[in-house]
Amino acid sequence: MRLGAAGFRGGVHPDYHKELTASLAITALPVPAQVVIPLLQHIGAPCEPLVAVGDHVFVGQKIGESKEFVSAPVHASVSGKVAAIGPYRHSMGKAVEAITIVSDGEDKRDPSLQAPPPLEELTPDEIRRLIREAGIVGLGGACFPAHVKLSPPADKPIDLVILNGAECEPYLTADHRLMLERPEDIVFGLKAIMKALGAKTGIIGIENNKLDALRVLRQAVEGSPGIRVVSLPTKYPQGAEKMLIKATTRRIVPSGGLPMDVGVVNHNVGTAVAVAEALKQGKPLYERVVTVTGGGVARPCNLLVRIGTLVKEVLEACGGVKEDAVKLVIGGPMMGLAQPDADIPVVKGTSGITVLTREEMALREAVPCIRCGKCVDVCPMGLVPVTLAQLTEHKLFERAEKMHVMDCIECGCCAYVCPASRPLTQYFRLAKAQVMGRKRK
Ligand code: SF4
Ligand code: SF4
Repeated sequence: MRLGAAGFRGGVHPDYHKELTASLAITALPVPAQVVIPLLQHIGAPCEPLVAVGDHVFVGQKIGESKEFVSAPVHASVSGKVAAIGPYRHSMGKAVEAITIVSDGEDKRDPSLQAPPPLEELTPDEIRRLIREAGIVGLGGACFPAHVKLSPPADKPIDLVILNGAECEPYLTADHRLMLERPEDIVFGLKAIMKALGAKTGIIGIENNKLDALRVLRQAVEGSPGIRVVSLPTKYPQGAEKMLIKATTRRIVPSGGLPMDVGVVNHNVGTAVAVAEALKQGKPLYERVVTVTGGGVARPCNLLVRIGTLVKEVLEACGGVKEDAVKLVIGGPMMGLAQPDADIPVVKGTSGITVLTREEMALREAVPCIRCGKCVDVCPMGLVPVTLAQLTEHKLFERAEKMHVMDCIECGCCAYVCPASRPLTQYFRLAKAQVMGRKRK
């Protein structure tokens, strides 16, 4: 296997706008007066509440869990009283059951939480159990329960763990700041993940527009056999799982396959920090770093935010939104989800809160396709977006599936270059949901 920075086909070079927050150190948002903690913040089964209205809870106390394997428990992010349990709008669109906690202002940690034994004494099973108990999911936005990725079937041996430090999404710098400020924890988390999987090699992939992070992490991995830092070309979507694997190893994940099919497990650098906190301190995932950014935010910043804090309160803490703000996105502008309002909680997968102005958005009306083929040129998955969009428009989902719509990673490159402003990514989200729905039936 040759390890080196290779490119991938397609992709785009959007304006990154990372200068808004890249040099701003992470600061902690004060403990909010109230949090709303959804019982579904991950891919998989929703949690059942473990508390009732009126109960007192501590910071880090488990307040929801599921018996299903593909799920992740949720924890209180403030100490105080459970004020309500009921549906609340989620950034994914639908309302989901959520637990509202009113803070008692004391910020008292659950006294039953204890630091586990040192990593050297933990078995792979114990590492997986602790990671599950801590409610850790993929913090890059995918929200897949981390312990599930650490439990591949016996016929899929894993020899390599790749940590994603590419952070190719425009505007977002939360991972960049973590790499600068928490390099030791990133390396510790990577070692724990490698131990859980029995993998001998670890790679941290970082785009070459973050030279300071490359330098800091190269120092941090010195003396760690089997771990190396790889500089990646700056190109969107370099951080997508399959692109990252190809760029760092030249292994190609087959259509419809998973990284484990080529012996790889990917995790995000933020997830590695959460793993380090769980294994060093016994700390569950109840807060995360969020980049608050965009030309529409008065004071862009990188904030450590308690899960369940309402986005509108986060924005207020950043000086509010400017008059020319026109769009709120959870995540970044390429893969993020536009929101009708800011009355939604920050969840485990909230990597960014981006407020865009009209000037930044280049708002245009969608017009009919002019068959220019640009979308085909940039698709990193080798799909034919123009045809997939037509099939979706005509509700021909089976044919879209045969043309590999399920391989679409929803990166948005096709929509980004489309001169007709076709809502291509939305089409493919719809087509994938239809195909998945039919399979479930
Ligand atoms: S880029 Fe847009 S206009 Fe051009 S072929 Fe694709 S869908 Fe049609
Ligand atoms: S079809 Fe999917 S994978 Fe291809 S460019 Fe469009 S959004 Fe990205």
